[in-house]
Amino acid sequence: MILVFLGPPGSGKGTQAKKLKSEVGFLHISTGDLLREAVKKGTELGKRAKEYMERGELVPDDLIIALIEEVMPKEGGFILDGFPRTVAQAIALERMLKKHGKELSKVMLFEISEDSVVDRLSGRLTCLSCGAVYHIRYNPPKQEGVCDLCGGKLVQREDDKEEVIRKRFRVYKEQTEPLVEFYKERNRLTSLDATQSMEEVNRQLLEVIRDGG
Ligand code: ADP
Ligand code: AMP
Repeated sequence: MILVFLGPPGSGKGTQAKKLKSEVGFLHISTGDLLREAVKKGTELGKRAKEYMERGELVPDDLIIALIEEVMPKEGGFILDGFPRTVAQAIALERMLKKHGKELSKVMLFEISEDSVVDRLSGRLTCLSCGAVYHIRYNPPKQEGVCDLCGGKLVQREDDKEEVIRKRFRVYKEQTEPLVEFYKERNRLTSLDATQSMEEVNRQLLEVIRDGG
């Protein structure tokens, strides 16, 4: 199965994709994680992407499409988290999959309000070493400031400040939400209520996967 997780920043896409990775072995491809890794390493891509990310804007399509072309697995199921984010990226994805004789199984739309997103992202903690994600109240680590999985340091992401969060939500509405119609027309869209508990969202996703998309 090839799944796309579509939804505003903070809707829980990464949390769920990481959980499914350990439960059903799907590869988790997050363009946000890949870009942060590139920024950390100081690669050419990282240097070009950094400022857009800090401002809460989208990184140009050509850079993102080249990145996905590089990492797209030839075999097995995977989840795309945070890609595509524009119609141009969605068209490029269709073309790439077709080239490999594949097609998208389903697009899961994580529905949530702006205020919930601000609440979630302003309390999000991310591990500097392994990228694991926590929440001060909804999913706290066992020991304050320390990653349960690798012992790394937990920090607030630079773009998880309220002003940037609201900008990212606006960018989502303007540039990414048109994909809802795009995938509805292609009969690929399934919506879920992302304000439910992590366990309930996980249960619904597993149901979709068991039904074979
Ligand atoms: P995204 O990948 O869509 O940007 P994340 O998975 O990083 O979102 O989740 C954003 C924040 O919300 C994190 O701090 C995470 O722990 C928390 N979170 C995720 N899912 C839920 C949920 N169902 N209920 C409450 N908090 C959640
Ligand atoms: P995320 O971790 O998904 O919230 O992404 C963090 C930031 O990375 C975004 O605010 C964008 O600047 C950039 N980014 C991630 N994925 C994409 C994408 N598919 N297209 C453009 N920019 C992206």
